[in-house]
Amino acid sequence: MSNSEMFLININGEFFNEKNAKISVFDRGFLYGDSVYETTRTFSRSPFRLDRHLDRLFDSAQKLEFTPRIPKSQIKDEVLKTIAKSPFENILLRIVLTRGTNQDLGLSPELSHSDTLIIFTKEIKEPPAHWYSEGVKIISHKKKTSTLGPYAKSASYQENVMAMKKAQELGAFEALMINEHDLVTEASTSNLWLIKDGIIKTPSSDEGLLLGITRKTVLEICHQEGLKVEETHLTLKEFLSADEVFLTSTNRDIVPIVQIDDTLIANGKPGAMTHKLLFLYRQFVKSN
Ligand code: PMP
Repeated sequence: MSNSEMFLININGEFFNEKNAKISVFDRGFLYGDSVYETTRTFSRSPFRLDRHLDRLFDSAQKLEFTPRIPKSQIKDEVLKTIAKSPFENILLRIVLTRGTNQDLGLSPELSHSDTLIIFTKEIKEPPAHWYSEGVKIISHKKKTSTLGPYAKSASYQENVMAMKKAQELGAFEALMINEHDLVTEASTSNLWLIKDGIIKTPSSDEGLLLGITRKTVLEICHQEGLKVEETHLTLKEFLSADEVFLTSTNRDIVPIVQIDDTLIANGKPGAMTHKLLFLYRQFVKSN
């Protein structure tokens, strides 16, 4: 397979490879970041929690007072069609819905008459085993913009782009983000967790974070397994003095964090409870 067939991209129901996939320069997603999106994946051709991702896509749209003209059931059909057409068993799916094009360059959404639906697919390769066995280092980042409460997963990711840029410049895996209340919210592309004295804790949604589908799945697993878990307000200091820290996201599962800025977490090695959760999570995704 040539390089130009690694991606299969569905634009408004038509299939393209990455060389010929194109949208209008007048698309509002490009002009104003006026779009919502989701990232999910398949395991052996089955989409993971697709309905929940589509529900979150529509919740994000509602937060932006955007009533999609393409029904949820049609988006689901397009996703399933795209999975069936992909040559790969395990793919990442990015579902992007924009408020469409307006040739007038005005801000008003009424200038656009149809939405743009793009479904990108990309083969998922096994992530490096050392992320899980050795853990990763992250940095902290004080947010410059304010978002309190769970926010829309829109294309306006500038703050996260800047946080990730800083992390990469410092040789770190991710950036832990701190809001104007000096509370930790999440990382630039994942949710954060700590474990202290046997209690698993994750920042509560009111402080401005994306309600991750993996976060929700981990919360459900903790409840099922009778593990003590709390959604609460957490400071950087609490993360630095935790027994274990980890992150969660759809395409990385659960990754142990062993260093934040210059501070090692506990003994600088992934903790037993994190590995137990990773094991339970992988069992869960195999059986669902
Ligand atoms: N927070 C942010 C800012 C993200 O971009 C992501 C990845 N979509 C997550 C959390 C994790 O969400 P999920 O578990 O749904 O992948």
